Amino acid sequence: MALKDAADDVDGALNRNSQRGLSFENAFGGVTSYMRRPYTKDLTGMDMAVTGIPFDQAVTNRPGTRLGPRAIREASTLQPCDPPYGWDINPLTDFNICDYGDVAFDYADTRSFPPALTAHVSTILNAGCGYLGLGGDHYITFPTLRAFAEQFGPMALIQFDAHSDTWPDDDMDRIDHGTMFYKAFKEGLIVPEKSVQVGIRTQNDYDAGCHVIDAPQVHAQTPAETAAQIRGIVGDHPVFLTFDIDCLDPAFAPGTGTPVWGGLSSAQAAAILRDLRGINMKGGDVVEVSPPFDTTGATAIAGAHVGMELMCLYCWNLRERGR
Ligand code: MN
Ligand code: MN
Repeated sequence: MALKDAADDVDGALNRNSQRGLSFENAFGGVTSYMRRPYTKDLTGMDMAVTGIPFDQAVTNRPGTRLGPRAIREASTLQPCDPPYGWDINPLTDFNICDYGDVAFDYADTRSFPPALTAHVSTILNAGCGYLGLGGDHYITFPTLRAFAEQFGPMALIQFDAHSDTWPDDDMDRIDHGTMFYKAFKEGLIVPEKSVQVGIRTQNDYDAGCHVIDAPQVHAQTPAETAAQIRGIVGDHPVFLTFDIDCLDPAFAPGTGTPVWGGLSSAQAAAILRDLRGINMKGGDVVEVSPPFDTTGATAIAGAHVGMELMCLYCWNLRERGR
């Protein structure tokens, strides 16, 4: 197969006969599922499902992440003509992966959103599928973790972020993308001593009890050293990996709601993620991509690449350890 096969290869999101295979269709057109995987609600025999969570009603500053899933899908359209770089595993050819479409919810009834998302994620996990979520603001990870904890018990959280998102907030009904991990720790969804926040560069006096590798520390050491620290912290514990795109410096990911300077380069993030292979990865999400502020599309491209790395981490673990 080669790029000239685009002459016959079109709309794989609808026409693909197998869940497996690279895609050579024209990157600039066609139906934009994530990585040109087939759209389906049938999870039978599926290894992994990708789903969009177009929710941005929890932001403290700039909105727009409700448009994130669509932008990440579009940005992913060039990637599936090649195996993922730097891996000896190819989720696209070796595993059954689908685009499960988006979560359904009433945009005007915010209170109904958290249980709707937990049920949506549970449907995927109960089918025996791996999970990759495309956000959406970072609040979405909280209802997601409820489904994961029900399935696997309290999780090890690997959180790439400029912010801790553990600012104290004892009103469990508040829907806020800066306080939900405070609530997730409090609710017992995450094991603090098995969890780590990477890339932090904003002040929060509250100590959630988890490990922190802040942005200056990431810059002071090699990506391999950072990855080794993370692997040491999570050990063999079941992992949920959440990647807030604002972990990256605004130079690499300007299209996000709460940008902070001094962040990771995309090269640092790519090297760290690849070096995490072997963790007991159960699922993950990429959040806070806000297309209205993403004037060059670079943020959505970064989001699409992060999603692919999370897919590789999951499929690697599936191959080595089983589900
Ligand atoms: Mn953040
Ligand atoms: Mn965040």
